[in-house]
Amino acid sequence: MRFLIQKFGGTSLTTPEFRKEVAAKVVAAQKQGFSPVVVVSAIGRYGAPYATDTLISVAKQVNRDVPPRELDLLMSCGEVISGVVMVNTLLDMGCQAVFLTGAQAGIITDANFNDARILRVEPQKIIEQAEQGKVVVVAGFQGVTEEGEITTLGRGGSDTTAAALGVALDAECIDIYTDVDGVMTADPRIVDEAQILDKVTYNEICQLAHEGAKVIHPRAVEIAMQKNIPMRVKSTFSNAPGTLVTNHGEVYGGTIDIIMDRIITGITHVTNITQIIIPLENVDIANPHLKVFKGMALAGISVDFWNVNLQYISFTVKDNVADKAKQVLENMGITPLLRSGCAKVAAVGAGMTGVPGVMASVVEALTRENVEILQSSDSHTTIWVLVKEEDIQKAVVTLHRQFMLGNNRDR
Ligand code: ASP
Ligand code: MG
Repeated sequence: MRFLIQKFGGTSLTTPEFRKEVAAKVVAAQKQGFSPVVVVSAIGRYGAPYATDTLISVAKQVNRDVPPRELDLLMSCGEVISGVVMVNTLLDMGCQAVFLTGAQAGIITDANFNDARILRVEPQKIIEQAEQGKVVVVAGFQGVTEEGEITTLGRGGSDTTAAALGVALDAECIDIYTDVDGVMTADPRIVDEAQILDKVTYNEICQLAHEGAKVIHPRAVEIAMQKNIPMRVKSTFSNAPGTLVTNHGEVYGGTIDIIMDRIITGITHVTNITQIIIPLENVDIANPHLKVFKGMALAGISVDFWNVNLQYISFTVKDNVADKAKQVLENMGITPLLRSGCAKVAAVGAGMTGVPGVMASVVEALTRENVEILQSSDSHTTIWVLVKEEDIQKAVVTLHRQFMLGNNRDR
């Protein structure tokens, strides 16, 4: 069977008209000879009656500490509602369809409620139903433990469901439908010239997603990548081809032709970051590095951008935990310097590996625009710079231009 996974996000499902658009995409796939397996998110965003955030807020009305197990039971209802509604829409269009919860679809997870990991998928039921010619609609974002407890996969986890099913069913492709035409070279609200990327590698999209591009969950990409199942990010509301995500090498439905000459693929940014610097000259405790990072870990504070040398320790935290971090350090007798309201800008591109001069090019562009680099870091596919929040626009726009990602790009 030629399985095609079609995952639809909450904004694609909000009205009966939208759901008809969704159903049309499903029916079209079936006409092309695919067995579509449709993965749905909960309907709408916060405020919509059955959206995940709405369900959470209802649960927390009286007591904010909802037990994680019970919260999962509640959150899992959102996708059940949208799945049943979607099946009914398909039936109404004369398309045979059946709904399965995550548990019924064989998504087995660990017992880490609210952020469970998929251990394996037992897809027999999906296959049986598909063999009868039915479109199988599966609730995204949920699974079941070996003991039969309902779990959820972490926010945005419907993408993860889609990827796991794609791998388990050896699907031809995993289509992630959303309300934009694909993955962009930068946030179009910041960069006018931002463009849709026609192809990206798994690695690049993972980096872009980790660095603020919200279009797809990085965990989903990591799963699809293991078996090289191609993914496409597409719009429910247009026929644009979207962005294809694959490895270098064979490309779904076409020839070998991928972007090795591209050094940078996209520029992303994350705001609300606090930089913390601890000059070591005044610190009078043994092993300060170890104590600082252990202290942060014990306080449950995630640190980023960390840099250790003989003169100072520096790292960043989210603005909303900066006070807590400061307190932890002061309790150790350390007086840190804090700079809140920073932003992390990332230039991502698999093609930069081993290419000299990329860092120079980043610095050149930022210097030209008088953007102060507060800190920097790099990996083989990403260069990060920390800048002041008021410099974000300038930084993102100039880097986008520097690497010719806009209309002037030769595509
Ligand atoms: N409905 C879930 C959430 O809002 C899962 C998803 O949309 O992917 O996080
Ligand atoms: Mg999502």
